[in-house]
Amino acid sequence: MPKKYNVEVTLTPPRYIPIGKFEIERGEDCINCGRCAIVCIYEVHKRQDEDLRCMAEPVAYRCKGCFCCIQECPRAALSIKENEEYSRLGDSYWTPEIISTNWYQAETGKIPVSGAGYRGPFSGEGFDSMWTDMSEIVRPTRDGIHGREYISTAVDVGRKLPAIKFDSQGLIASPIPPTLNIPVPIIFDRLPFGGFENVYEAMAKAASYLGTFMIVDAEEWFKGVGRKEMGDGRMAKGERSHLIPYITQPTLHGFDVDWIKTCKMVELEYDEVVLSAINEVKRINPKTIISVRVPFGDNVEELVEELTYAGVEVIHLYADLNGQTFGKSLFIKDMTQNVHRHLVEHKIRDEVTLIVSGGIAMAEHVAKVILCGADLTAIDLPLLFALECRYCKECREVLSCPVELKDVNPQWGTQRIINIIGAWRNQLLEILGAMGLREVRRLRGEVRRAIFFDDIEKETFDNVFVWGGVIR
Ligand code: SF4
Ligand code: SF4
Ligand code: SF4
Repeated sequence: MPKKYNVEVTLTPPRYIPIGKFEIERGEDCINCGRCAIVCIYEVHKRQDEDLRCMAEPVAYRCKGCFCCIQECPRAALSIKENEEYSRLGDSYWTPEIISTNWYQAETGKIPVSGAGYRGPFSGEGFDSMWTDMSEIVRPTRDGIHGREYISTAVDVGRKLPAIKFDSQGLIASPIPPTLNIPVPIIFDRLPFGGFENVYEAMAKAASYLGTFMIVDAEEWFKGVGRKEMGDGRMAKGERSHLIPYITQPTLHGFDVDWIKTCKMVELEYDEVVLSAINEVKRINPKTIISVRVPFGDNVEELVEELTYAGVEVIHLYADLNGQTFGKSLFIKDMTQNVHRHLVEHKIRDEVTLIVSGGIAMAEHVAKVILCGADLTAIDLPLLFALECRYCKECREVLSCPVELKDVNPQWGTQRIINIIGAWRNQLLEILGAMGLREVRRLRGEVRRAIFFDDIEKETFDNVFVWGGVIR
């Protein structure tokens, strides 16, 4: 029985009022009867703390638009309308729903609810064209969440031996490669922006609490947080041990060798001489696990095969922020499947760990990308959403940040990140429970437990239509 892992979530209110989907107003006809506070399960309506006879201003950002309070108000004093500011959040990939759902999870640590049922979409682009098959359900899925049965979300990172050799005494004679056990299939990736010292500190503390890891740009780290924390000891040794320095070839020479000696894992950017860089790092610390960061581009399958045969233990495949691959425009779920299948065909899939990142925006995306063949994922923007980022992109134009990310209190930020990972993990447990799986390792590459819109469409319509519109 694996050791039980649990993420303690705590209500951590936002510093700024979040942008909600609805604006709800209480008109002058209100008689303070309190009926709306009783019927709204999202606690939008409350009485004033200072005078319980009067209703307080509605906490509009929590409203899910279920219309219960509107229908129940005896004076028709409530009005509701869509918030225009909400529709301007994010972009076509990082939609307002994705951003606000992540805010909710960072605040409460709870699984999001959609109010009056899930209204779709039931197909679409990217991850929306893939559904998880829950038909194995044999018991309430919440058994996994409430601990009545243990479902493991732990993954192993590192190279696995293709075959173990034993000596004449029956002892293992093959050299055992180093491996890491991470209790959640999620690590923290480098941030596309917003890399302030306090943000990094919150991320590192959360990674340490959760038992996961955080990739940091080694050069940037030593210019900022790293230099400071080495100086005033802000970061405990345990937290430092959860960092994965990301090193490029030019920065490897002159890099702090002492840090490499203590690292459990190092990430190197792929280039033609990456194998000699791996040897160099291994010479300094043979116990460290080395991940090679490879862009999802054309012919990536062959490159991953070559690196695996060369003995690379971990490959981190990354797409752009929206999950699009470089070169031929494909989505990460398709490219992950291509790479996974290619390795399976060459019978070397178990020899390498695949980390996949780019466009992982919600808990379901973690499950889906693992279904497609990843061992684990690396996330970026959702960590910033946990700290209230609105993805307004103002900081890219060197404009002021509406939520003052640089002023985030690291303790507050740590709990918000813990909350979001706690909520994501619970959703992963629900998916695994509904599939009848006891561990996330068994989800890897299980495409038969997924339904792909393209396949269904082909299966359904290929026999009905032929080109020219003639029906068979
Ligand atoms: S139900 Fe209507 S009248 Fe009663 S407190 Fe709410 S808004 Fe006021
Ligand atoms: S519409 Fe529904 S969610 Fe919104 S305030 Fe009224 S009862 Fe609450
Ligand atoms: S400026 Fe906008 S995108 Fe940048 S960190 Fe602040 S909220 Fe996020």
